[in-house]
Amino acid sequence: MTERDNRPPERHIDMLLHAQWVIPVAPNNAALADHSVAVHEGKIVDVLPSDKASARYTADKTIHFESHAIMPGLINAHGHAPMSLFRGIADDLPLMEWLNDHIWPAEGRWVSEDFVRDGTELAIAEMLKAGTTCYSDMYFFPEVAAKVADQVGIRAQYVCPVLDFPTIWGDGPDDYLAKALELAIAYAESSLITVGLGPHAPYTVSDQPLENIRDLSTEYDIPVQIHLHETQHEVDEALVEKAERPIARLKRLGLISPGIPLQCVHMTALDDQDIADIQASGASVVHCPESNLKLASGFCPTQQLLDADINVALGTDGAASNNDLDLFGEMRTAALIGKAIAKNASAINARTAIEMATINGARALGLECVCGSLEPGKEADIIAVNLAQLNTQPSYDPISDIVYSLAANQVDSVWVAGRPQLVNHELVEFNEKTLIDKAIRWSTKISASDE
Ligand SMILES: [Zn+2]
Repeated sequence: MTERDNRPPERHIDMLLHAQWVIPVAPNNAALADHSVAVHEGKIVDVLPSDKASARYTADKTIHFESHAIMPGLINAHGHAPMSLFRGIADDLPLMEWLNDHIWPAEGRWVSEDFVRDGTELAIAEMLKAGTTCYSDMYFFPEVAAKVADQVGIRAQYVCPVLDFPTIWGDGPDDYLAKALELAIAYAESSLITVGLGPHAPYTVSDQPLENIRDLSTEYDIPVQIHLHETQHEVDEALVEKAERPIARLKRLGLISPGIPLQCVHMTALDDQDIADIQASGASVVHCPESNLKLASGFCPTQQLLDADINVALGTDGAASNNDLDLFGEMRTAALIGKAIAKNASAINARTAIEMATINGARALGLECVCGSLEPGKEADIIAVNLAQLNTQPSYDPISDIVYSLAANQVDSVWVAGRPQLVNHELVEFNEKTLIDKAIRWSTKISASDE
């Protein structure tokens, strides 16, 4: 900030956003009244009181958000975007029955490049409207989906799935990993798209491919994301079949290790040794509270993990097990269930919940220097939420309002890297009616095949 004192008194920039509240999340997770965010060439250049901002900057575009809070765009650290086309296809079932009897057969029948493209567009549009500016995705044909994200201009981590068996996307582990590397090289210079390796789960990937993933991650510094400890059943089965807990196995294979940027998704049924191993490795946890609740998978002890200095981010998981991609809802559920699990009403307070949905997500995806907070030098991934609604008035504390009472449709403006993606609730890159028509066409085809 000392640099500011040396600047000329007035500087011309691209955009100046004045707001009733600015919630930068970091370095200070507070609601700053009557503040402004200055944006130039896609980056945040200043966060300062509005009177000073008006004196210091002139801008091509100046917006006054009189009843809004401006905050960093939300980061959805785990999902399967194309599965939006399976939203509601099989509800109210436990994980393994849901996967084995419904999702995997439906994927075998319907997943194609067109399915991935249309499902990804639907998911991105839903996420942008609900304030998500960055997401991680694990699904087949990631090269098709990454291209959609890149063209739209949203930030995304594409995690290429790896399984022991062949799928529509490849022949087996070696083929999946070769395709993953190809994608990582294709996007090596991208400012929006990063690529990761996605061993699906400990029960679908054997030791050798996991060791190959460890080596590739080390050699190319590629993040790894895995569904881990999704249920007690997963842990019990591993103990019967391999006489080893999944986390102990990944530690033995060198994947849970300080050298590996690992993102562990779900993380229920944890014992003290599991938590100590994750803590020592520096891996992040991606908590998906609504998916875990809907599939009755189990409970992630989020406050206990945070107390152990483990980074905990939030994810929606796919819309087939959630059934929406609303990270505001996820924040609220994480706060509420976090209190119940910790048996402590002060656990996962509103500030912590916002951090989980923003800066912790950025940290999990290795994007801490890029996004996740409103700090000078970071990309201008920004959202504005309107608090002048019945459910968020009166407003004593906007951070509390955002976590405990805001609805996602109160997001009215979204920028990614300074580029507008939502303006007065209207998507810039999509026609909503076209997306809905396409979704209906898919559901008509998929339902007809069941009859
Ligand atoms: Zn998942």
